[in-house]
Amino acid sequence: MTAQPKKKVLLKIIILGDSGVGKTALLHRYVHGQFIQEHKATIGADFITKDISVEDKMIWDTSGQERFQSLGTAFFRGADACVLVYDITNDQSFKQIEMWRSSFLEQSSPPDAEKFPFLLCGNKHDLQSTRAVSAQDGEQLAHKYRMQFFETSALDGNNVEAAIRKIASVTSDLDT
Ligand code: GDP
Repeated sequence: MTAQPKKKVLLKIIILGDSGVGKTALLHRYVHGQFIQEHKATIGADFITKDISVEDKMIWDTSGQERFQSLGTAFFRGADACVLVYDITNDQSFKQIEMWRSSFLEQSSPPDAEKFPFLLCGNKHDLQSTRAVSAQDGEQLAHKYRMQFFETSALDGNNVEAAIRKIASVTSDLDT
């Protein structure tokens, strides 16, 4: 018998949410461990692919940043997980989460929509004084759709690593 090669999985994780919620900042924080102030706004969607080796060394590659409407099914096809981001200081961005979730499911048509791994992410946790969405509201929505839930801050890094690790582990469990 030949030895099995070390498991290496490429994950396609889609990150969705209204413009300005912090999708790019979250990715940047995760990839580079820093907060970026100035960059071009992104509309709707980004996607990231991720390599996981058995040693759990992670290499991320970010690409995308196109208009959501023009992305089409090819963009979503084969997605392993989806991160839905809202801004805890922006109630409207929270209200849009269900729309983002159903758009994603419509476009990607995963084999078992009920079990598809979603992560709900309430970003800008550092802005407590202007909070508009309570943590309970976030939890309730996550519970309703059986999503993982984290409040994160791309600014101070709170929970960013934990959230991404969680969704990556849930996703890679599916392959084993
Ligand atoms: P995107 O359009 O969803 O990609 O959002 P961006 O990543 O462009 O972020 C929009 C704005 O929010 C930028 O000015 C960011 O600097 C800011 N921002 C993003 N994440 C955070 C955060 O966690 N805390 C705070 N205070 N600001 C953030």
